[in-house]
Amino acid sequence: MGHMKTPQKPATGNENPLLAEWSGAFGLPPFGSIRTEHFRPAFNCALAGHRAEIDAIAANPEAPSFANTIEALEKSGRALERVASLFFALAGADTSDEIEAIEREVSPLLARHNNALYLNRALYSRVADLHARRDTLSLDLEQARVLERYHTRFLRFGAALEKTAQERLAEINERLASLGTRFSQNVLADEKSFAMELEETDLAGLPDFARAAAGAAATERGRPGKYVITLARSSVETFLQFSARRDLREKVFQAWIRRGENGGDTDNRALIAEMVALRAERARLLGFASFADYRLDDEMAKTPQAARALLDEVWKRALKKAAAERDALQEMIAREGGNFALAPHDWRYYAEKLRKARYDLDESQIKPYFQLEKMIEAAFAAAGRLFGLSFRPVEVALYHPDARAWEVTDAQGRHVALFIGDYFARSSKHSGAWMTALRDQEKLAGNIRPIVLNVCNFSKPAAGGPALLSFDDARTLFHEFGHALHGMLSDVTYPLLAGTAVPSDFVELPSQLYEHWLEVPEILQTYAVHAYTGEPMPKGLLERLLATRTFNQGFATVEYTACALVDLDLHSLPDAPALDIAAFEREALERIAMPPEIVMRHRLPHFQHLFSGGGYAAGYYSYMWSEVLDADAFAAFEEAGNTFDPATARRLRDCIYSAGNRRDPAEAYKAFRGRLPTVDALLKKRGLVEATSSR
Ligand SMILES: [Zn+2]
Repeated sequence: MGHMKTPQKPATGNENPLLAEWSGAFGLPPFGSIRTEHFRPAFNCALAGHRAEIDAIAANPEAPSFANTIEALEKSGRALERVASLFFALAGADTSDEIEAIEREVSPLLARHNNALYLNRALYSRVADLHARRDTLSLDLEQARVLERYHTRFLRFGAALEKTAQERLAEINERLASLGTRFSQNVLADEKSFAMELEETDLAGLPDFARAAAGAAATERGRPGKYVITLARSSVETFLQFSARRDLREKVFQAWIRRGENGGDTDNRALIAEMVALRAERARLLGFASFADYRLDDEMAKTPQAARALLDEVWKRALKKAAAERDALQEMIAREGGNFALAPHDWRYYAEKLRKARYDLDESQIKPYFQLEKMIEAAFAAAGRLFGLSFRPVEVALYHPDARAWEVTDAQGRHVALFIGDYFARSSKHSGAWMTALRDQEKLAGNIRPIVLNVCNFSKPAAGGPALLSFDDARTLFHEFGHALHGMLSDVTYPLLAGTAVPSDFVELPSQLYEHWLEVPEILQTYAVHAYTGEPMPKGLLERLLATRTFNQGFATVEYTACALVDLDLHSLPDAPALDIAAFEREALERIAMPPEIVMRHRLPHFQHLFSGGGYAAGYYSYMWSEVLDADAFAAFEEAGNTFDPATARRLRDCIYSAGNRRDPAEAYKAFRGRLPTVDALLKKRGLVEATSSR
């Protein structure tokens, strides 16, 4: 796949392993010989190579054809793609001060490079010419889609605008790229700088697994014998759920919700104000009323109004359910003789107690049944039943000892993909969980199969002990694995359309849908086995666990939907001069009557979905939009009377998991389901239906 058509030998030429084709097993990068200092020269060389390719395509004296323009674009930039995908995988999963420094330098360079590509007039006029003649070019459906996508991209980038507007857009894009990098590094810095060190006597209420994880975190920090709570979601949330120490819960909760809002160098508020203003300006230059209008025009939802209509529908039901939940928690506090009003740092603690009382179920009783190893097996097994995939562990050199690899094959034993799982939290890793690819699937440059990564932040067990997950962690594992399947099963010709390259309100369908198979009784019966006794989860416990699925869903829905509504509000501003972010957030929450006992799942100063690169800016509603799809899609299996129904699974694979962006998402969904989705299955799944009937 080497596409350095103009081989310019840089000074470091032959010694830089990043500039050669990847020669590792399964096409992996040669991790053993890559050093951080290789990235700068590799980026420089790969950028120059791609620039030369683009110039050659734009200056081609022959009349534009699909082959000499669109296919040529698709074949270009391979070295850059390789270097960038590896670099950003490491910047997320195993970063360092040096990598962060390179990231700050490179992100504006990449933005400038993208500007040069999509604001290139000669190139755009070739694409526009082809687009105008598209019906006469004898293109197949996939080719027509690639052409359409390129044309839309150029237009949305501003290729058709006059020169001064283009220059301003280029400036805006570069500035946004730098700001996004700084935003994300600031959040990581605030997370790293906080560690709540505890003594044995401070651990009241914490179950064994939580003590073990806090002990391991202390050891990792060179404080053996102590206990440390960090701002990793799994560490904080576990503590909030179990700690009987109200003072400590408040302390860690305050640190958690103030990430990016602590004043000083790592404060993100001014960055956000600038980003919002720049995005609004970009949208105006491109002829849209607001950034949200611009963003959603190219999504499945099409308009902010459509997204908001769904959120409003869910919001009013969620508020009612959350109010009932709050009353039950307050009652519990009163029964215990507590003389205080439920605060945000109390919610998870009392919810856990109520869950235990109501369902005779507590997290520490469930947790031994969710071993990381077994949950990985479970995710693989479901993929075997649905799509005929097999997974074989392979020994290959990777970037960190905690990362592991499996070769994925299909029912005929053919190679499908390489899958890498990197599951444990560490200080060199950004928070959250995500899927990324070191290589995408395509057939244009030969039968290229993908290399896909899942990165999570589960607590690492103390040496020798089993890694135990919460039920939520297990769900996260299935979620990211659903994204991984979307990448691994991809079966398209053109890389532009591969795998997860779909609109962001559609991309969560394969991941959220996959979560449903964790909850299928036969999967739980087989893989939820006790870490110490090897016994499967007793039937009664399993039933009670599944019965709790709608427990506390008012809280979860409010916590999420508030974020989606504030995001849409913020990005619907037609202009944002000198925006006071704290005031904006407060007022936006007042407008929707946010309950004071609940804090947004991601407050604006650390809302990485919106500001670390902007992948979900004006797009956080996507999770709910996709949930409408996933709930409705899973109902297709229930209607078939078999959660692994082969015919339904076949359609799911053909129309969704392997289809990439070959067609419009609404059409793809209709091909799978025979109709567009309805919101009913979602409301039922979240236990919000009762509110419907009482309306
Ligand atoms: Zn996802």
